Amino acid sequence: MRTWLGGKIGVLVVDMLRMELFRTIGEMQSASLQWEREGVRIGFVPTMGALHEGHLSLLDLVRPHCDRLVVSIFVNPTQFGPQEDFNRYPRYLEEDLRLLEKRQADVVFAPEIEEIYPKDYATYVEVERLSSVYEGAIRPGHFRGVCTIVAKLFNIVQPDVVAFGQKDAQQVAVLRRLTRDLHFPVEFLIGPTIRESDGLAMSSRNACLTADQRTKAAVLHRALKAAEARILAGEKNAERVREAMRSVFAEVAEFSLDYGDIVSPESFERLTEIRGKILLIIAGRIGSVRLIDNLSVSTGP
Ligand code: AMP
Repeated sequence: MRTWLGGKIGVLVVDMLRMELFRTIGEMQSASLQWEREGVRIGFVPTMGALHEGHLSLLDLVRPHCDRLVVSIFVNPTQFGPQEDFNRYPRYLEEDLRLLEKRQADVVFAPEIEEIYPKDYATYVEVERLSSVYEGAIRPGHFRGVCTIVAKLFNIVQPDVVAFGQKDAQQVAVLRRLTRDLHFPVEFLIGPTIRESDGLAMSSRNACLTADQRTKAAVLHRALKAAEARILAGEKNAERVREAMRSVFAEVAEFSLDYGDIVSPESFERLTEIRGKILLIIAGRIGSVRLIDNLSVSTGP
């Protein structure tokens, strides 16, 4: 099969693709509606491309639960603030398609921006409260953009089952709420965070780090592990655990901390006492690159 990719991302011909590549909503939605009529179960992994093993692990997670596996690649402008890295965000469509073909995606949906947000576009979706803390506080409007694109993609792709990464834990909590509140009939699968050998969570943004920043970025995971160690040693006071996390983080002067905290995994409410299942969350900037990570820890009841 021969697939033609035109438009702003450059002209490229990919030969011998077993996968289908759809660039328009019409193509994607009519294929999905046809599959629905045939009783085909649709699995879906939404991404912004620049794919790495974290993304690809989600394909492996969904594949056993579906008959057709759809992956979207769309760098969604509405989830980036005006001062953020939308223009600098890495884009490697050709390489992504090769990786997805190898990892046995059936369909890639890679629309242009104008296809998703035409000039007169006016409708947005927002989950209240949960969207305004931590990532939402640092990046106002971020989750509004995420919820809008995910709601649109759900309507376009019509998935039965979707996979998201625990790497973006607050996004998972927000999207679960969106799905519940808007009654999307879709099953959620959450994949574990895939890490580099030094513990750094894989992220498309890691490609933007210099070699020195890349080495230093592992401090995020070290800080989370230090906090986890305190909890597993029996510490119940959340403030002391927070201090342990922050003091490890402070070892790398080039990194500035956005937040390092302990929250309830579903509500993202800040905890004062460690009890049951808790989530350690951390976010910081090194140079112009912003990185986030988290670790869930289960203690006794
Ligand atoms: P993104 O392209 O950053 O929007 O990510 C697409 C999906 O991949 C989201 O559900 C992310 O949470 C997930 N993801 C990104 N990085 C990782 C990782 N290191 N491990 C597991 N999932 C990830």
